[in-house]
Amino acid sequence: MPVQAIDQLRQSFRGELIQPTDAAYEAARRVYNGMIDKHPRLIARCVDVADVIAAVGFGVENGMLIAIRGGAHNGAGLGVCDDGLVIDLSRMRGIHVNPDARTVRVEPGCVFGDVDHATHAFGMAVPSGFVSSTGVGGLTLGGGIGYLSRRYGLTIDNLLSADVVLADGRFVTASSEENPDLFWALRGGGGNFGVVTSFQFRLHPVSTVQFGPTFWPIEEAGTVLTAYRDFIQKAPEHLTGFFAFLIIPPVPLFPPQLHGKSVCGIVWCSTGSAEEAEKAIKPMQSVGHPLLHHVGPAPFPAAQSTFDPLFVPGLQWYWRADNFTELSDKAIARFVEYGSKIPSLLSTIHLYPLNGAPQRVGKNETAYSFREALFSAVIVGVDPDPANVLAITEWCKSCWDAVHPFSAGGSYVNFMMEEGQERVQASYRDNYPRLAEIKKKYDPNNVFRVNQNIRPGG
Ligand SMILES: Cc1cc2nc3c(=O)[nH]c(=O)nc-3n(C[C@H](O)[C@H](O)[C@H](O)COP(=O)(O)OP(=O)(O)OC[C@H]3O[C@@H](n4cnc5c(N)ncnc54)[C@H](O)[C@@H]3O)c2cc1C
Repeated sequence: MPVQAIDQLRQSFRGELIQPTDAAYEAARRVYNGMIDKHPRLIARCVDVADVIAAVGFGVENGMLIAIRGGAHNGAGLGVCDDGLVIDLSRMRGIHVNPDARTVRVEPGCVFGDVDHATHAFGMAVPSGFVSSTGVGGLTLGGGIGYLSRRYGLTIDNLLSADVVLADGRFVTASSEENPDLFWALRGGGGNFGVVTSFQFRLHPVSTVQFGPTFWPIEEAGTVLTAYRDFIQKAPEHLTGFFAFLIIPPVPLFPPQLHGKSVCGIVWCSTGSAEEAEKAIKPMQSVGHPLLHHVGPAPFPAAQSTFDPLFVPGLQWYWRADNFTELSDKAIARFVEYGSKIPSLLSTIHLYPLNGAPQRVGKNETAYSFREALFSAVIVGVDPDPANVLAITEWCKSCWDAVHPFSAGGSYVNFMMEEGQERVQASYRDNYPRLAEIKKKYDPNNVFRVNQNIRPGG
């Protein structure tokens, strides 16, 4: 690419343009997953919508591969690319809360911790994920599964509108009134349709939650997971609790006598009162022999960020996922088998319950397809040491191979590596043809293809 082209871009660009020879380049090209080592030709760190329009135009004119970077948390590293242009939104972090309308407008460089901080001051929250460091952009566009899902829906179910810079440089708003086809596609279709420069969400009255874990010995995992499967289907919607296989890390968050122990557990979060939470959780406490039960009041932002210090940027990360509409005894046995041989301290298996508000949206109402799923399960190999990549990856893949036959057959796009077109289509099922048509309309040349790609026209 000629130097003059970058000089010309600089004239209409207010943010930073970072090239491989710049001191800022090494840090700027890194993403959350330490396994990803990509070298873009140019990183355009935008400060406003005008910068985004300029960057998209520059990338298209120069025939560059374009990646969109929000919070950089994508497991497959889809916020960066080799030899192309990264449109880095991390400096666009404005948030405007409208407490009367119970809405919040969020710029695309925010992580959910930023949003929680801003909305908590008004006693409200947007349903998001289970950690606070995840980017608003990627998490929202893929769906958004978290502590508030059972009661208030996926993040996309609370998206009211989005501003988007399209591949041809046009700026449009997508909502149920304006460009409704695009709005449908954005709710689950990922970064396929353009660069979202603003998200408007509905807020819910969530301030203090009842939060904390129950842990059991790993030997009781089969009994506990079976009981949990039946329990969660009848549990009130103010309560969620995700099931985990884990090794308890040696950090002050957990009592020293449990450090290094393989366990299974449920991490609870209730938007009800302390009494309501206690009553709802009680049946699970009499299952097996809990090693620890510690649930108490916490400000929602504190609950949401509890696990952030464990899952820091730069760790080696390999994950696979599937949706489960039911969890048969045979599936439980496979999860227990692999959950009992977790390969490293931070590796884990989570089952996130989705019965409740997410299931009240039809499977064709948004691009996100698996509305009937009871659980979204994710198998996560994590380790700080690159020497352990093979061990965590092989465990993850073998576990996935073992449980996949019992799954509904498709995944959640935000919990995928680059697993091929077949897996993308399996995740969108009968929404895929409509997504492909909308892609053809808004991005016919597949300019935005560093993602779980939807091909224009199919
Ligand atoms: C530690 C950890 C915890 C997680 N927990 C949860 C969870 O609880 N719930 C959940 O649902 N998911 C969770 N995820 C998955 C997460 O949703 C995805 O990794 C998601 O892609 C992250 O979004 P990001 O903006 O941080 O990523 P990035 O890597 O910056 O972006 C990923 C992709 O999103 C698209 N994108 C991002 N921003 C924009 C934009 N403004 N416009 C257009 N496209 C855009 C692009 O296609 C890009 O390739 C977690 C991930 C990690 C690593």
